[in-house]
Amino acid sequence: MEDMSRHGDSFATALEAMKASIGADNVLTQDLADYGDPFGPPGEWYRPGAVLLPSSVEDVQAILRIANEHGTPLWTSSQGRNKGYGGGAPRVSGTFAVSLRRMNKVLEVDEENCMALVEPGVRFFDLYDHLRKIGSRLWMSVPDLGAGSVIGNALEHGVGYTPIGDHFANHCGMEVVLPDGDIVRTGMGGMSNPHNWLIYPHSCGPSWDGMFTQSNYGIVTKMGVSLFPAPEVYAPGWFTLDNEEHFGTFLEVLRPLMIDGTIPNQPMIINAVCAASAFGERKQWYEGKDPIPEEVLDRIAATPGFGRWVMRFALYGDAPVVAHNRTKIERALTAIPGGAVSFDQYDGQNLPELTNPHHRVQAGVPSMALDQMTRWYGGEEGGHIGFSCAMPIAGKDGIAIRDLTRNLLNERGLDYSAAIIVGKRSMIHVALVVFDTKNDQQTREAYAVTKAMLEPAAKLGYGEYRSHLDFMDEVAALYDFNNNAQRRLAERIKDCLDPNGILSPGKQGIWPADYR
Ligand code: ADP
Repeated sequence: MEDMSRHGDSFATALEAMKASIGADNVLTQDLADYGDPFGPPGEWYRPGAVLLPSSVEDVQAILRIANEHGTPLWTSSQGRNKGYGGGAPRVSGTFAVSLRRMNKVLEVDEENCMALVEPGVRFFDLYDHLRKIGSRLWMSVPDLGAGSVIGNALEHGVGYTPIGDHFANHCGMEVVLPDGDIVRTGMGGMSNPHNWLIYPHSCGPSWDGMFTQSNYGIVTKMGVSLFPAPEVYAPGWFTLDNEEHFGTFLEVLRPLMIDGTIPNQPMIINAVCAASAFGERKQWYEGKDPIPEEVLDRIAATPGFGRWVMRFALYGDAPVVAHNRTKIERALTAIPGGAVSFDQYDGQNLPELTNPHHRVQAGVPSMALDQMTRWYGGEEGGHIGFSCAMPIAGKDGIAIRDLTRNLLNERGLDYSAAIIVGKRSMIHVALVVFDTKNDQQTREAYAVTKAMLEPAAKLGYGEYRSHLDFMDEVAALYDFNNNAQRRLAERIKDCLDPNGILSPGKQGIWPADYR
């Protein structure tokens, strides 16, 4: 495992310089667990050497300057809650972790154009509270867990479950500090009068925004994020399928409903294990050490509201439009043998306090309730890794990835828990590899089996859309068209922008020249 040993004494000298620059109170050297990976296996694992807590863009620039002077690497996170993918831990152990948690202001809300400008430490909870506090009528989009940051999530291509749930696609404008401390604003922010910064995403010339996602080319210090008007009607729906045979048919029926916008949000489809895990632990259903048997899965599926597969989705908008789409969806989905559809309906302008976390998340109301899903094996000590591949919304693809990941998990004695997040014409199948972090053997198996999924999935054309720290090199290697042209391009840009190789070495398999 890469560590800081190559940097000798320079870390200690840099540490003192960091303290002098941003204040000793903002440099942590002890109790760093909250900035690492909460789910690592026993023994050596990715961990920061110290945590830096800048409070301003000037602090960020100072940190980069010191890192360049001493050649000591940094690893950026916003909240560092990237659970299932390594949390806030750096790829190179002993690195300075730059946590942007203190830069947590909502700088602007544009009620007319439905946009907000936020700093990187702003959590989904914070943005929500801010909107309520200022009396905004706007809704936002949140992922399953509200404790992550709006910016960190978008930069990782994270998702939410509203019509603006593709968070990166729904950002507009960034401010980025480059490795040499220079500050760039993307899009229309390139003009000194930022009149259009948050409403028009391009500029006249290349678009740079994508370059700062899942990369190590800069530290994003501001971002514009989309909001949307409270709809007249909010109608969250459920589709349950009581069998596995028609899983493929279901995806075929779903695809056109997504592409033509009948279902406007990002639905999530979960299997029986995942559905049960949202409400309780495995031992409520099965105590055996082998993978959960078919008859128990059928028992779970027979529980009211569950199925072998369950999809949550929602409709938003004017009452007649919602009513029309509701009928269209009911007709299409109930034609699938074993399929059933149900809806709830709320006044979007006067939303009541929603208790069901699934109803909350699709209305952009943050919560932590769905953290329960990772407690299947280990309760409070439960961990998970996401093995997350993108593919078409198609029966043959859904079946192929289901069978591949389920078989590999079951061979190692682990249950198959799956969450499929559906976009307009693609879906991300997340094999939620759940384990008990107190059980060393099971934890090791979980990491090994996730790695074992990479190659067979790539053979079928499925690449991870986001990767755990521990597999970033392997995932990058599988993007192998034309002798890994993407990685070669990434390396050329890395060398140009960050010649000292100080920013997040190894992020997404992009290493500075010195490490290659
Ligand atoms: P979250 O805030 O959702 O917990 P993290 O802070 O863990 O997300 O960020 C996830 C990943 O996104 C980080 O590992 C880092 O690579 C990248 N990232 C997060 N914030 C920034 C940022 N402000 N600038 C550049 N990259 C970032």
